This record gives sequence, structure tokens and C-alpha cells, in this order.
Amino acid sequence: MRCSTMPRPDCVPVTEGRPSEDQLIGHWFRRSPPRPDVALGIGDDAALLSLPPGSELACAVDTLVEGTHFLPASPARSLGHRCLAVNLSDLAAMAATPAWALLSLSLEAPEPAWLDGFAEGLFALARRFEVVLVGGDTVAGPRAVSLTLLGHVPPGQAIRRSGARPGDGIWVTGWPGDAVAGRLLLAAGGAPAVPAQLSQVARFEYPEPRCAEGVTLRGIASAMLDLSDGLATDLARLLSASGAGAEVELDALPRSGGLALLPAEQALAHALYGGDDYELCFTVPPRHERALAGVSAGWGCPVTRIGRVTAAPGITWLRQGEPVPPPAGERFSHF
Ligand code: ADP
Ligand code: MG
Repeated sequence: MRCSTMPRPDCVPVTEGRPSEDQLIGHWFRRSPPRPDVALGIGDDAALLSLPPGSELACAVDTLVEGTHFLPASPARSLGHRCLAVNLSDLAAMAATPAWALLSLSLEAPEPAWLDGFAEGLFALARRFEVVLVGGDTVAGPRAVSLTLLGHVPPGQAIRRSGARPGDGIWVTGWPGDAVAGRLLLAAGGAPAVPAQLSQVARFEYPEPRCAEGVTLRGIASAMLDLSDGLATDLARLLSASGAGAEVELDALPRSGGLALLPAEQALAHALYGGDDYELCFTVPPRHERALAGVSAGWGCPVTRIGRVTAAPGITWLRQGEPVPPPAGERFSHF
């Protein structure tokens, strides 16, 4: 009986041995507080949700597979956090407000200690962003986690990838490159002792989705996406959707304390090609720059102007304003 560790009157107790599917759902996953827009949550054949009148539904799904997206040894709490964080980041990149989640869980065997950690990571983040888990699916199989996140946005106010225009500035939040540095520190096995490196590991294991930031960019940013495959790859996607190109000033890229510890070339490769950043990259027309300065003053992260959109396609990399060849480095792929 593990409910004693969880002060919830409706917690389904789990007896010793393998929990049944109903026990698993009731004990670990039926724990979101009620929300007025959830007419029916976990327990029936489908959830029933009410969208704010007139708004558009924003939907995203991301799957994390053991061996591809996380190592067997990665902490369950980190995985619970990340499976929601990556989707929150997608909704943030649309300037949508997250609300409801569905969780599909494939597990070789339900291990209570692993489920405790996973649920702790998932629900700690869900509470912070007021997301409720309204359903899911549980199957036996190789360990994989797929989370679907639903949210809403006033009609016409979502920020797409396709709106960038020549002359717009290009901006990024936070610290692209830190997460991959953290992932490599973990893979190398050594325990980092330097605080800047610990914060890189935290940025990989517990990325902070930029939801509050994304929503404030409604009416300000012309295009936006979140960085999951590296700035170079993702910015190219935004530009191609917008039918534009860019000039990016390499010396303007934000450099965290952890990246500054690395050889300059490696730090640059991490920032451009690293992946797993879950920062926002967006474009802002010059006439909205003052508004950006106004809203970003209240953000919990820095924002950096790294270049500008051009009519000529492709990305031109600059140093001190002069074109240079694309920096060396291996591109990251989740696929
Ligand atoms: P069905 O067999 O009809 O698909 P299930 O027995 O799989 O129903 O699920 C019963 C209820 O539990 C449903 O409301 C479903 O959404 C929910 N559920 C199943 N697995 C999970 C999970 N891992 N997390 C949250 N809710 C879940
Ligand atoms: Mg089912």
C-alpha cells in the first residue's frame, strides 16, 4: 500500500506484486485537480472538454522512446518532466495556452519506484502550468512515453512559422547549446562539479518551457518555432516556411557560463547544432521591437537578437558583419 505517501483521498492503493492496469491508472495518474473546463476526465471512454468560446484548439504530440530519446538509466522524474515539457514548448511556440494532456505509456513491466518518479516529474510540471491529465492509454511493450497536449488560442492569434518578412529581427530565448552540453556531460559519466555544468545538465533533464513568454508574443512576433533539433536546423525550417532567408551574427549568439568553459568552436557547434534546447526562436518586425522590449522585461529568461530576415534564401553566417563559411559541427537528429 503506497497511498500513505500520497495524501489523496481517491488514491487507489496498490498491493504488493504487479499492479493491474486500473490500479496503475488510479494510483499514479488520476491525480489532476479538477478544472471547470473538464466536464469528464480520466475514467470513461473519452474525456469531455470545453474550449473557451470562440477559441481555436492547439494540439501537439511527442513520443519519447527508450534508446532513441532517453537512456535506460535516465531518471524517471526527468522523463516525466520532459514528456510534458517538450509539448508545452510546442504550444508555447504557437503562443497557445496549454490546458489538457493525454498520456500513452508503454512499459515492459510496471515498476512502482519508476512510476513514482515519473508521475512526480510529470505532475510537478503539470501543476505549474495548470495542465490537467484527462486520459491516456497503458500498454505492455518496450518503454516509451507519448504525450498529447491540447490548448487554446484566440482565433487568428497563433504565431506560425510562415510569417517572417525581410527586415524582421531574429531572436532566441535562453541558452541554446546548454542542453546538449548537459546531455554529453551525462553520457561521459562523470559527475560535473562546476555549477555552470550542473545547470547544463538541468537544462537537459528539466527543460523550462517558455509558455508565459510565448503567449506575450501575440501581436508582436511575425513567426515563431521552438528549438528541438538545433538552432541552424530549426531556423532553416522557419525561413523555408516563410519563403525567406537570414543573416545570423555568430558573435551575437548567447553564451552561457557553461558554454564559455568549452573551446569556442565546440560551444558554437552546440549552440547551432545541439538540439533539445526547447527555447523559442522568433522574428519581430522593427515596428514591434519596443513592444518586445516591454513584454520581455517581465520574462524569466534572457532574449537575444541574433540576426535579421532577408529576401535572399538560405542562412548567411556573419562574424563582425562579414560573411563566413558555415561553422563546423555535426547536426543532431531525433529521428
Ligand atoms: P479503453 O480500454 O476503453 O481505451 P482504458 O482502460 O485504456 O480504456 O482506460 C480507462 C481510462 O483510463 C480512460 O479514461 C483512459 O483515458 C484512462 N487512462 C488509461 N491509461 C492512462 C494513463 N497512462 N494516464 C492517464 N489516463 C489513462
Ligand atoms: Mg485502452
